[in-house]
Amino acid sequence: MSLPDSLLEISKEDFTWRNATRNVEVTPRRIFFPRHREHISAIVQVAERDGLRVRAVGSGHSYSEVAVEDDYLLGMEHLEGVERVDPDRLKAGHRDRLLVAVQAGTTIRRLNRLLKRMDLALPNMGAVDYQTVSGALMTGTHGSGINKPAFPDMIRAIRLVGGGGMYYQIEPTDGITDPEQPPEDGYIRLIQDDDTFYSTVLSLGAMGIVYELVLEVEETFWMKERRDLMSWTELRRAILEGRFLTEVEQTDFMGFRINPYPIDGDHLCALTRQWIIDKADRPKGLNAHFRNLLSSIGGGLEKLIEWTIRTLNRRPEKAPGRIQTALKFTKDLTFTGRSYRVLFQSGSAVAGRGISSEFAFEVRADLLVGALEAAFQLVDQLAQTQGYYQSSFLSVRFVQASRALLSPTYGRKTFFLDVPLLRNIRGDRAILAAYQERMMDLGGIPHWGKINERLYEDTTFTQDHLGDRLARWRAVQKELDPKGTFLSDFILRAGLVDQPVAFV
Ligand SMILES: Cc1cc2nc3c(=O)[nH]c(=O)nc-3n(C[C@H](O)[C@H](O)[C@H](O)COP(=O)(O)OP(=O)(O)OC[C@H]3O[C@@H](n4cnc5c(N)ncnc54)[C@H](O)[C@@H]3O)c2cc1C
Repeated sequence: MSLPDSLLEISKEDFTWRNATRNVEVTPRRIFFPRHREHISAIVQVAERDGLRVRAVGSGHSYSEVAVEDDYLLGMEHLEGVERVDPDRLKAGHRDRLLVAVQAGTTIRRLNRLLKRMDLALPNMGAVDYQTVSGALMTGTHGSGINKPAFPDMIRAIRLVGGGGMYYQIEPTDGITDPEQPPEDGYIRLIQDDDTFYSTVLSLGAMGIVYELVLEVEETFWMKERRDLMSWTELRRAILEGRFLTEVEQTDFMGFRINPYPIDGDHLCALTRQWIIDKADRPKGLNAHFRNLLSSIGGGLEKLIEWTIRTLNRRPEKAPGRIQTALKFTKDLTFTGRSYRVLFQSGSAVAGRGISSEFAFEVRADLLVGALEAAFQLVDQLAQTQGYYQSSFLSVRFVQASRALLSPTYGRKTFFLDVPLLRNIRGDRAILAAYQERMMDLGGIPHWGKINERLYEDTTFTQDHLGDRLARWRAVQKELDPKGTFLSDFILRAGLVDQPVAFV
């Protein structure tokens, strides 16, 4: 069980790791902070020798237990940075693409700034930028934009340390790398195979420790956002008549927030439309910063959030009115800025105080209306029977079909229904449990990184909705990690792996 000095120096014992919202914590046998891939390879070899598991954590912005394991944990923050991919190693026909190699521990925030210096930008991102690029990839982080990729679909190659401490570069069958020009010094094994690639891009860390990713990015771009209020009655009609989903298809990024509680007989909705604009049309001066100023004042004040939680716990029935006020506050606001500033939709304090469950459905008018109306009934029932009120609006976002085998958006354009709550309001987990039951019964697929414990109370759900994709994913997992070194209790409990692997 002895560790070489080189690994002792970069590790700690008795270290309690907590996720950002502090609803998940673990004190692993040891936590390591590798500085390069050779450290990772050495850790994996030692772990395999001793029959232990190894997991990496990003910035802990998953609300679920997806990241944790109590053997060896790897904090990836020292692996940070980005550089353009050398076109000489690419196949002819791929050399003009905008490809960057990003180290696994780079946060999206840092990446956005580094890309800006290169006049480049991510094509899309989630509502916040605190995640690491590898964490966002491994759980399928998405933003809104029905024709825009989520993280797993921005990736063109993934570099990881797999079983035996081996280095792999994994790409689709028609990958970017010229096999005649093997990656770097030739001791990385290049695999170009669709099943291996689309199993690995979203794999909850189960294929190995990712140390670098090749992302396809875009030239830097500017965006404009507008938020408009409308009633559910109007929006419902537009959805059922097809007008709304046509607009979703035609708008670069679009989503909406809705009060699940009716006030004056209707539910208030705030539509967010975002367009890519010409750089010349960007406004100058203070106006350009307006929306972010507002959201950071509201969402960035810890004290304000704490006060809201206290007040809602004293008078939970005030929640519907507060949600209404929050939505009205966004009326007619427009905001223009660099892509990543417009795509960012939250505040820092909210990030530490919130939890959420989120569900993916095929984009269909009947499913969209059905899921929302089921949510309205559910919150009414929870209020009547338990006195529980949710503290936030529901949010609906639209996402491109994915090729990642475990993605909730696999093979179909998807809408996500997000249920964010302030943690520690009365009944918080019971509300999310009730949502999971109702939405999963309607066919909603939970987000891997959000509160999703029903997945491991009923593992048939995973098996049923993944169908034959699960067998393909398992075959890849066994090949890259024959000893089960990268598995976790979460992965086992969610039924992704059929048999707990017997450790040596
Ligand atoms: C405030 C907030 C807002 C959010 N907004 C959105 C949103 O808009 N859209 C959305 O889809 N999700 C959203 N999420 C969820 C979040 O994006 C994901 O859960 C994401 O995985 C978090 O990234 P992370 O770096 O914190 O990863 P972690 O939570 O630390 O880890 C996530 C997974 O990645 C694995 N992992 C991390 N690094 C590596 C590595 N180097 N190699 C192998 N495996 C690795 C971990 O083992 C784990 O399985 C939000 C979460 C919060 C807290």
